Amino acid sequence: MTGQVRTRIAPSPTGENLHIGNAYTALINYVVAKQHGGQFIVRIEDTDRTRFVEGSEARILASLAWLGIRYDEGPYHQSERLPLYKQYADKLVENGHAYYCFCTAERLAQMRKEQEARHEPPRYDGHCRKVKSEKSKVKSEKYVIRLKVPEEGTTTFTDLIRGEITFENKLIDDQVLLKSDGYPTYHLGVVVDDHLMEISHVIRGEEWISSTPKHVLLYQFLGWKLPVYAHMPLLRNPDKSKLSKRKNPVWVSWYREQGFLPEALLNYLATMAWAHPEGKEIFSLDEMIRVFDLANVQTTAPVFDIEKLRWMNGTYLRSYQSSARLPARQVVSRQIFDFVHRKYSKEVIEKVLPLVIERMKSLKEFESLAGFFFARPKELERPVNQGLLRVAKGALESCDWSHEAMEKAIREASEQTGVKARDVFMELRVAVTGKTVGPPILESLEILGEEETIARFI
Ligand code: GLU
Repeated sequence: MTGQVRTRIAPSPTGENLHIGNAYTALINYVVAKQHGGQFIVRIEDTDRTRFVEGSEARILASLAWLGIRYDEGPYHQSERLPLYKQYADKLVENGHAYYCFCTAERLAQMRKEQEARHEPPRYDGHCRKVKSEKSKVKSEKYVIRLKVPEEGTTTFTDLIRGEITFENKLIDDQVLLKSDGYPTYHLGVVVDDHLMEISHVIRGEEWISSTPKHVLLYQFLGWKLPVYAHMPLLRNPDKSKLSKRKNPVWVSWYREQGFLPEALLNYLATMAWAHPEGKEIFSLDEMIRVFDLANVQTTAPVFDIEKLRWMNGTYLRSYQSSARLPARQVVSRQIFDFVHRKYSKEVIEKVLPLVIERMKSLKEFESLAGFFFARPKELERPVNQGLLRVAKGALESCDWSHEAMEKAIREASEQTGVKARDVFMELRVAVTGKTVGPPILESLEILGEEETIARFI
C-alpha cells in the first residue's frame, strides 16, 4: 500500500447515542488504520440542523471511549467548516459541473406530486439546469447548488469487498450540494472532508452504496483521487430484518448499562462478517489488528444475536475469574464494584464471585444472583416451611461455621427428625436468599456469617 492509511467515522449527532452499527464501522475503521500504522479520525457530520439532537455528540464520544476505540484526530465538526464547502460548490459551478437552482418549495412539491402520479421515482426535473443564472439573481434570491450529473454514460467504482459497481448516470439525481442556509448536504460535505482530511479508505455501511456514484462524480469534477471504498454489510436481527430499535437494543449505552464488557462487545462485532483465519471465536482487539483482512469481509447479512453476545460476555467473565494472574482475576470484581456504584464492599464481592461466576453472563446479573449477600431479601419467593427451617436452625446453632460442618450437622438433624435433608436445605435457601435457586447455599452462609444468617430466620 502506498501512502498513509487514514480512516474515519463520520457520525451525525442525530441519535440518542452511538448506534451499534456505527460501533461496528468504528471498529473496522480503527482496526484497518492500526494494522497499517495509520490514523483513525472522528468527524461529526452536523450539517442537518433539523435533526440535531442536543448532547448526542458527547454521548457518542463517551461510548467510543468506553469501547476503547481511541481516535488520533478530531472530533472535527462540519458546522465549523462552512466556508470550505461553499468554496468548492462555487468552483463546481464555475467549472460547469454544478448549477444554481432557484426552484421554490412549492414548485418542487408540485413536481413530486406529478411524478408520483406517473409512478416515477422522485427526482429533480432539471428545470434550472439549462438557465444561465445572472449574478444579480444569485445575490438577491434564495438558491441551492445542484450537482450537474451527466445525462449519459455510467459511473463506476470498485468496492474492496464487493468488486466493481456501476450506475447509469441517467438514474442519478441532480443532488443538492449546498443548501439555501449555506450548509452543505451530506454528499458535498463528505467528499470535501474526506479529500481534505486525506482519508485513504472510506469504510461505511452498505446503505451508502447508492450515494457513492454522486461522490465519485464529485471527486472527478474536482480532480481529486478517489479513496478506497469498502461498504460493510448491515447488521441484522435474528429474523434477518434490518437491526432496529423495536427488535434489538441499538444504542451502545444500553449494552454498557446491561453489564456487557466492551472487549466482549468488540470481539462479538468483529465476528459479524469476518472469520478469524484460525476459526477462533474469542480473540482480543490486538489480535484482530494483526490478522484482520478487509478484503475477506463477507457480504451475506450478519446476524447480531444478543444471546450469542451474552454467551461471549460470560466466557470473558469466567476467563478473567479463572486466570492464573491476580490482576486479571480482579478485573471482574473491580468492574462489578463500579457497576453497583461502589455500594457493596469490594472484599465481599471478591469472596462471593466464585460462587456465582458460572451463572453470570453480564455484570448486571451479579445483583440478582448475589444481592442477598448485601441486603436482606425484601420479600420471599414463597413462604417458608417453619418446621423444616427449625431443623436447620437447631443444627446450625451448635456447629462450626464452615460449610462442611454445617452440612454434616443438618444431615444428622434431618435424619433424627425424619425429614429429607434436601428439603431442609431448600427452606434454608428460601429463608436466607428469598429464592428457590441460587449459588451453593452452605458456601453462601459461610460468607454471610452466623449472625446475619440467624437474623434471617424469622
Ligand atoms: N454522516 C454519515 C452517517 O451518519 C456518514 C456516512 C459515511 O460514512 O460516509 O453515518
